[in-house]
Amino acid sequence: MQSATTYYQCQRCGNCCRWPGDVRITDDETAAIAKHLNLPLQDFIERYTHLNANRTGLSLIEKPNGECIFLEGPNHCQIQAVKPHQCKGFPNEWQFPGWRSVCEAIEMPSPAS
Ligand code: SF4
Ligand code: SF4
Repeated sequence: MQSATTYYQCQRCGNCCRWPGDVRITDDETAAIAKHLNLPLQDFIERYTHLNANRTGLSLIEKPNGECIFLEGPNHCQIQAVKPHQCKGFPNEWQFPGWRSVCEAIEMPSPAS
């Protein structure tokens, strides 16, 4: 009947884009973002990525203030159309410690219920 699962509806506050930590990108996402930015793959990798903390793949670099390199203004993602799965999945698929104090998402009944 009714699912008790909670769904968090993003309010696009941009706070998670300012949270320090790796934004990991898969090989497919790396290629898609490079294409979206009209950059050769190697140029994109050199300018906008670094080896992630576990040295298992690439992550987006951060600005000196710690926010994501692709955050423009308070809440505009410059690669919204091709943003990584990690970004799309927060906070419904994964959460970081203390996330609820910074995330403005609203609790809703699950869309699937
Ligand atoms: S890629 Fe976009 S959605 Fe993901 S952290 Fe950066 S600005 Fe935010
Ligand atoms: S912190 Fe929460 S509400 Fe704000 S943009 Fe990120 S997911 Fe959406």
